[in-house]
Amino acid sequence: MRNIPYKRSAPARHAFRMTPQRAEILRVLEGNKSHPSAEQLHRRIARKFPGISVATVYNTLESLLGRGEIAEVRIDRSRSRFDPCTDGHAHLMCVKCGLIADLKAPPRPPVPAGKPAGFQILHFNLEFYGVCPACAKPAGRKENKSCQKKEKK
Ligand SMILES: [Zn+2]
Ligand SMILES: [Zn+2]
Repeated sequence: MRNIPYKRSAPARHAFRMTPQRAEILRVLEGNKSHPSAEQLHRRIARKFPGISVATVYNTLESLLGRGEIAEVRIDRSRSRFDPCTDGHAHLMCVKCGLIADLKAPPRPPVPAGKPAGFQILHFNLEFYGVCPACAKPAGRKENKSCQKKEKK
């Protein structure tokens, strides 16, 4: 359940004010494929707005989520990541460095047997885990080093 992205109940629309800080958060997120965390976004935003607090970034992300303007990606168990693309695409995460890549929005998979009668399915989430090319390389070098040590002995 924790992994299913959900849209939070939208707060009252008039509660949203487009402050320069909010506009900057949207600008940083727009077209951003790195699925940044709130902390990473805060670091980026603080370059332009040095006084901005992490709480402000969190609150802004919350209201953007409530409005369906961004998506919360929960493939990373350690922290929420944020995505300007809300089309329900799948994700692939590197278990070593946390890099998240987009996969095309999947067709609805068949529901495995066992669904309780009358249980209405609203959405699903597909998550894939692996090791990215950059992280796969150092592991290869380590293996080579251990091989060399063995040879010296
Ligand atoms: Zn990696
Ligand atoms: Zn994504």
